[in-house]
Amino acid sequence: MPNLSNKLDWFTESIIRKMTRVANDCGAINLSQGFPDWEPPLEITEALKEAAIHGPHQYEITWGSNEFRQKLAEKQRKYMGIDINPDENIVVTCGSTEAMMVAMMSVCDKGDKVIVFSPFYENYGADAILCGAEPIYIPLIPPKFNFDKEALKKAFEEKPKALILCNPSNPVGKVFTREELLYISDLAKKYDTFVITDEVYEHIVYKPYKHTYMASLPGMKERTISCSSLSKTYSITGWRLGYVIADKKIIDNCKKVHDFLTVGAAAPLQKAACAGLSLGEEYYDNLINIYDRKKQLFLDGLDAAKLKYFEPQGAYYVLVDISEFGEKNDYKFCQWLANEIGVAAVPGSSFFKEDVSNYIRFHFAKKDETLIEAVNRLKKLKK
Ligand code: GLN
Repeated sequence: MPNLSNKLDWFTESIIRKMTRVANDCGAINLSQGFPDWEPPLEITEALKEAAIHGPHQYEITWGSNEFRQKLAEKQRKYMGIDINPDENIVVTCGSTEAMMVAMMSVCDKGDKVIVFSPFYENYGADAILCGAEPIYIPLIPPKFNFDKEALKKAFEEKPKALILCNPSNPVGKVFTREELLYISDLAKKYDTFVITDEVYEHIVYKPYKHTYMASLPGMKERTISCSSLSKTYSITGWRLGYVIADKKIIDNCKKVHDFLTVGAAAPLQKAACAGLSLGEEYYDNLINIYDRKKQLFLDGLDAAKLKYFEPQGAYYVLVDISEFGEKNDYKFCQWLANEIGVAAVPGSSFFKEDVSNYIRFHFAKKDETLIEAVNRLKKLKK
């Protein structure tokens, strides 16, 4: 048999999705892979019924249906505060996962360097490797997960092609301040670097923190490739609907990559999701209220279970410190936790470049009763 591609030797299967399988195998409450266990808004599911009967069922325009792009442009113009032309500035993708891959493949050549903050969402390293780029990791330092400004400046001196920015961040829930973003944007302009954002948690930001879109900062619209998705905002992670928003020249490249990667996102799902994109401001206010309450419920539970954690400012994850349990291998700890305690988490080291094994990640996008039961089980940890 000929050799298989050696690119794949550099990364493993997704640990997040592996932990979902572990949770299913041992019947544990799955607080590993982050997705909600409730229904999407009724407007969307009703529209899906309509689409099932009346279509569309055939290919849409490869970079997204006209209606979807128009509705998305309308919504994102309002939240991002930038001008968005639905024909020139948007590519609709199969989830933000494809959006990020498309963005990287559209700007990176073999050997290019890409700055990635660590901890990071697991896809970025794999994305970089698949397009031949080399990540430069910059630590986000606990407990505040700030970055060292000098270290970032040094990384920019290596003339990277792009910086990847997950904001609000997965797994730590950091919401980058305007001041931090301005610092990054000044460097990006000085060293002529793209910023590729992953902003899938843009509507899940807890008070008093505020989400600032990198593309909205002075001089950044031209060099920011904004990726996001409908998964988290409308609780439709399985629909795989995401998008890239950027300047026309960049989008022209993204359209090509996307066309040959996937042809397009599912036509009936784009149609149905338009009902979500048309929802008013109260929908997003309600969404953050729901998550705020769940965050409090779960963190109170972690306090009651006497576990140490970093309070998230956004997104729906929480990193818990397991140092006190003395287990040096967070993978083993998570396997044991799922088997013996009945709660599944993600080993923290899968998110870090640094050698750390004392964190695990839970998510709290679950029904209240699920979270309460999870907390009751976690209380056994200290006994
Ligand atoms: N974004 C979700 C998480 O971080 C799911 C991602 C995935 O399936 N890899 O858990």
